[in-house]
Amino acid sequence: KVRKALGQNFLLDANIIDKIVDAAHLTQKDLVFEIGPGLGVLTRRIAQSAGKVLAVEIDQNLLPILDETLGHLPNAEVVHGDALKINFDQLAADRTDKQFGPEGKAYKLVANLPYYITTPILMHMLTGGFNLDILVVMMQREVAERLQASPGGKDYGSLSVAVQYYTVPEVVIRVPKTVFFPAPEVDSAVIRLTRRKVPPVTLISEETFFKVVRAAFGQRRKTLINSLTGSGLASKETWSEVLVETGINPTRRGETLSLDEFAALANTFEMSIRG
Ligand code: SAM
Repeated sequence: KVRKALGQNFLLDANIIDKIVDAAHLTQKDLVFEIGPGLGVLTRRIAQSAGKVLAVEIDQNLLPILDETLGHLPNAEVVHGDALKINFDQLAADRTDKQFGPEGKAYKLVANLPYYITTPILMHMLTGGFNLDILVVMMQREVAERLQASPGGKDYGSLSVAVQYYTVPEVVIRVPKTVFFPAPEVDSAVIRLTRRKVPPVTLISEETFFKVVRAAFGQRRKTLINSLTGSGLASKETWSEVLVETGINPTRRGETLSLDEFAALANTFEMSIRG
């Protein structure tokens, strides 16, 4: 029985499954995490190309089915749990012979995500400090477009800034809703996120950077000065001084700022707090 509340839309198209796996450039040395194996079809295909696949599934009812589809495979293992609560470095260290994880090699994520938690999962994977270097994920097409968006466009927001700070995103394929059962309400896309080895901007404080980004996007269609002030992080006077010092026009909209401009703004702000 399909559980819609858990975002269960199972992939039926072997061709698309191949394309997802190809995009991750897997080798026999790779450890791959999958979130939400469902019936195990994508998991089985990953196992053919990777050294090992660890698949995290929240729905207990699927475990017997997964045991049937995957039980005989020596390099596929199902972990019952909530992906949002999992420390992937720890799991990698526990379930492999320690060559992966915090002190070991990087691993990959390949998943057809449950759409009701796409953003929280992405943020967990990117900000969790895990040794993860490539993510190939199926998601709603509109979210995929937000991840890739440039400043000024309607899709550009704090999620674009966060994802582009940690990774380089590329859409691999656009996928119609008809290849799933049951068909979801929206079209999908597969996106590859390649983690940056060096951040694209230099920050005094990552925490302040993300606070400023969230503040700037807090009230769309308002000027930057009003959004920043509305966030309550600092007074209008402080923000005016910080914007002048950074050389950013206070009447611009937050959604027109580039990553470089956000970094400059956050660094000036941080300096002003520190005095
Ligand atoms: N991989 C399968 C496929 O491609 O056909 C299923 C993908 S389906 C879109 C999403 C899967 O994620 C479902 O099996 C669902 O039960 C599971 N899921 C939902 N929330 C989860 C969570 N918090 N942690 C782990 N798995 C979750």
